[in-house]
Amino acid sequence: MSKQRVTIIGAGLAGSLLAINLAKRGIETHVYESRRDMRLQEVAAGRSINLALSDRGIAALREVGMDEYMLAEAVPMTGRMIHTVTGEQKLLPYSGREGEYINSVSRAGLNIALINEADKYDNVKFHFSQRCVYFDCASGEAKFSNGERVKSDTVIATDGAGSAVRNAMLHGGVERFDFSQIWLEHGYKELHIPATADGGFRLEKNALHIWPRHQFMMIALPNFDGSFTCTLFLAHKNPPADAGGSAFAGLVDEQAVRDFFNREFPDAVSLMPTLTTDFFANPTGNLGTVKCFPWNAGGKALLLGDSAHAVVPFYGQGMNCAFEDVRVLDSLLSDGPDGKFDWQSIYEKYGELRKINTDAIADMAEENFYEMRDRVADPVFQRKRELETKLEQTYPDYFSKYSMVTFREDLPYSVAKEKGNVQDQTLMEICEHVGNVDELDLERIYRQILH
Ligand SMILES: Cc1cc2nc3c(=O)[nH]c(=O)nc-3n(C[C@H](O)[C@H](O)[C@H](O)COP(=O)(O)OP(=O)(O)OC[C@H]3O[C@@H](n4cnc5c(N)ncnc54)[C@H](O)[C@@H]3O)c2cc1C
Repeated sequence: MSKQRVTIIGAGLAGSLLAINLAKRGIETHVYESRRDMRLQEVAAGRSINLALSDRGIAALREVGMDEYMLAEAVPMTGRMIHTVTGEQKLLPYSGREGEYINSVSRAGLNIALINEADKYDNVKFHFSQRCVYFDCASGEAKFSNGERVKSDTVIATDGAGSAVRNAMLHGGVERFDFSQIWLEHGYKELHIPATADGGFRLEKNALHIWPRHQFMMIALPNFDGSFTCTLFLAHKNPPADAGGSAFAGLVDEQAVRDFFNREFPDAVSLMPTLTTDFFANPTGNLGTVKCFPWNAGGKALLLGDSAHAVVPFYGQGMNCAFEDVRVLDSLLSDGPDGKFDWQSIYEKYGELRKINTDAIADMAEENFYEMRDRVADPVFQRKRELETKLEQTYPDYFSKYSMVTFREDLPYSVAKEKGNVQDQTLMEICEHVGNVDELDLERIYRQILH
């Protein structure tokens, strides 16, 4: 048993996975979570209830033996199914290679499985309904809503985008602490397509469905029980003129919601019997990007996951990136002869390795919003995706930017971004000038891209 005592603040996705990693190393781990034990309560409706799990996240789960367990109840999504206003559908595969797909998993199911796994270890203790209300960056003492004060060798803050520990670092706890938070003008609302009476799927099961409408969009991910969780991404207010005047602020009554959905998503409306009830019952969420640095309060605390780098959800990477954080941190942990860790140098090394990559995925996630909302409906973009699929089918060492981000856990996000942007530009230019990608000389394009 290690002689270290670590406090984790936040038993969300990253905190619960981290608890397993620390437990395996014999570290005495205390996890404080502001919510009640989610294993004992219904999950709040209207929050993102499924998530796309891909290779970076799977790699981190594999290290603690949880990958197969989670994938057993996942629904594979092999591509984006684009829905036009007139109801035509077109599948754009995520990859030209067999076995490269993303997985729709239940957020609550995954979180509960990770908490259950961590709870098996005697050296892990969960403290639910205890909100961290104050953190002293100098002494490392955390104060909780029940008045408890806790001191440990270090605190790892996995308390999400609104992190209390980050606030303490920002407000005087850490000198020259850089911080930015940029809100998207769009918010999101979750809606529901139920399963058929016999538990079947009302839309193609193995796809992430997208209704791209330029200034806004709706997506739907399949759930294991045959239903779909839809998410409408729409401006909060003041939409541009070409958005047809649509914004959450204008959807004030049932008629306005029905008119909007009948006009924009007619093929989905008939599958959404509880549309207006869900629309008014479920909250409208905000979306933003948080960047900050350093993540380390002198070895007394580390920010990890969304607390360090919340990203918008358009690459489906926030959780995958947070899981990769855990994997990278774990790879740096090694104790000295006295059974102690040098937390400060571990955290500094971690920051050096990670910051460039979390910045890269934050930028790509924002760019992907515009891709999903506008460009997936653009014929040039669709030809480019077809060309990328053909290249992936023909050349084992060709990976599109999407594939590098999503299926190459061996490749840092920053490399995927740099290589992917160059490739994207070349392929878009090529596809602007052809009507049909079958006319193209694939070998010549492949050589042009690689050299
Ligand atoms: C609409 C939407 C869709 C998304 N889709 C995807 C997707 O498809 N794929 C993907 O990879 N990612 C996705 N994400 C991102 C993903 O949800 C986050 O990146 C991920 O949840 C981050 O994990 P975390 O553990 O860092 O934070 P969280 O999951 O937010 O967990 C933080 C935990 O800390 C607790 N907490 C907060 N404050 C305190 C406090 N003061 N004291 C104690 N406890 C506290 C919270 O209750 C919570 O349990 C999506 C996000 C949104 C909003």
